[in-house]
Amino acid sequence: MIIRVFPERTSYTPVDSHVFIGPPMFSAMLPPHDEVHISCIFTWDKKKCAELAYQWDAATDKPVKLGGLGGPAFGSPANDFNPGMYIKPNIVFTTRGCNNNCPWCGVPKLEGPLRELHIVPGNWIQDNNILQANQAHKEGAEMREYKFRGKRIDNGAWESGGIQIGGLPHHEGMAYIIDKSTNYLTPVDPATVGQLTGYTDDDNNELYEGDIIKQYFRGAGSIYHLSEIRYYQAAFMACSLKTKAHTPLHNDTNRHYRLIGNIHDNPEIVERRCGDEKN
Ligand code: SF4
Repeated sequence: MIIRVFPERTSYTPVDSHVFIGPPMFSAMLPPHDEVHISCIFTWDKKKCAELAYQWDAATDKPVKLGGLGGPAFGSPANDFNPGMYIKPNIVFTTRGCNNNCPWCGVPKLEGPLRELHIVPGNWIQDNNILQANQAHKEGAEMREYKFRGKRIDNGAWESGGIQIGGLPHHEGMAYIIDKSTNYLTPVDPATVGQLTGYTDDDNNELYEGDIIKQYFRGAGSIYHLSEIRYYQAAFMACSLKTKAHTPLHNDTNRHYRLIGNIHDNPEIVERRCGDEKN
């Protein structure tokens, strides 16, 4: 696990338990980690980031890397894109670099010619110049499937497809799942509507908002977090039902998910939902 340190928080900064803003807290309170990366994007933060590297070096016996892989200010290479590492997991890059050489732009010098990356789930594409990618790549980047599900009003079964909320005369507040091949609208309970996250569990089950999962971490033995999937702070998160801590969904080798139910079919699992803290 990598602790990522940022000189200040922005709307793009990820929010998981291994993200820190500024100097370290007491060493004993740091989460388990293998490395610390000081992520420095802007050149005007370089002095502050260098000081942070010095402070973090004193707080951990693990390697501290200034710039990490998210530090363009220090000339770090922009290699493969790892969603959720240095920016929120819903914000993605599908290419790096650019084949142009505009005199005011640092992208060609820092990232080199255009390279197409593996496309990961997300809904904000931040590429420097995706228009230079080949047509198949552009279509792949655009074609993330937006899919929703909801429980049918007539028989309570799950229905999935496109979504329409209201929009029909005398049907304000109603929700409909759209069959994309026939455009047929099936009325569903609006309270049960959830979006497909783009992630799957270890058995390749698609994960939706409102699903309940067991979340395992590599090296954590049999310890798991029973979590609810939520859309929170502009990203799909697993919210621990015990601690209410949010962790971005991630399909990487460190995390394992097992779908065990959802908040609508299995209310007995969920004594207190995430987001109910004020109730
Ligand atoms: S990223 Fe945009 S501004 Fe920069 S070199 Fe390419 S085309 Fe020019």
